[in-house]
Amino acid sequence: MIYIFCAPSGSGKSTMVQHMLHKYPGKFELSVSCTTRPPRGQEVNGREYYFISADEFRERIARDEFIEYEQVYEGLYYGTLKTEIERIEAAGKQVLFDVDVKGGVNLKRILGDKAVSVFICPPSIDELRRRLEGRGDTSPEMIEKRLAKAEYELSFKPQFDRVVVNDDLEKAFARLDAIVER
Ligand code: ADP
Ligand code: 5GP
Repeated sequence: MIYIFCAPSGSGKSTMVQHMLHKYPGKFELSVSCTTRPPRGQEVNGREYYFISADEFRERIARDEFIEYEQVYEGLYYGTLKTEIERIEAAGKQVLFDVDVKGGVNLKRILGDKAVSVFICPPSIDELRRRLEGRGDTSPEMIEKRLAKAEYELSFKPQFDRVVVNDDLEKAFARLDAIVER
């Protein structure tokens, strides 16, 4: 089974994905996307993302290398490489996707019953702001852009197979475990 995780930025999607990787060692691997945004904090090229230029991104679109791609924020492109599913499944692992809401809906449509789409829901927009500010790696301007988009992203929630509310972290982990172990 492939897991597709989506959420407004700051909801705790990366935290949930890291929980899956640690709780079930060797079982899952995160698909590494391409992005044109610069690395943030401790991010390493090839680990969190393949950080590429806008020109290279366009060349890869022309070569039909993406299953899906989106301009998630103004001028910033993100795309899922077709080779990632092959790479991870060849290693005998299950694929985890961390993509924006539109990418998530598209991947679910393409993958069908092979995938479960999971929407990570923040308790409130105010809490989303606190988490983005608390993470300390995103500029005030980018935080505003992300919050401005959050309401729109929340409207995609009904299109997902499962919803995990991330209020209390331990409870959210338990909700996610119940989905994986079902
Ligand atoms: P996303 O990947 O959705 O952008 P992150 O996983 O980076 O979000 O989480 C954003 C910030 O909120 C991080 O600093 C993370 O440690 C914190 N966080 C995540 N879940 C919770 C929670 N349930 N309660 C409090 N803080 C949380
Ligand atoms: P961030 O800049 O915080 O790493 O990611 C911003 C948003 O882009 C997040 O919602 C993340 O899930 C999404 N994203 C990351 N990779 C991809 C991808 O390959 N395709 C799509 N559609 N969205 C992605």
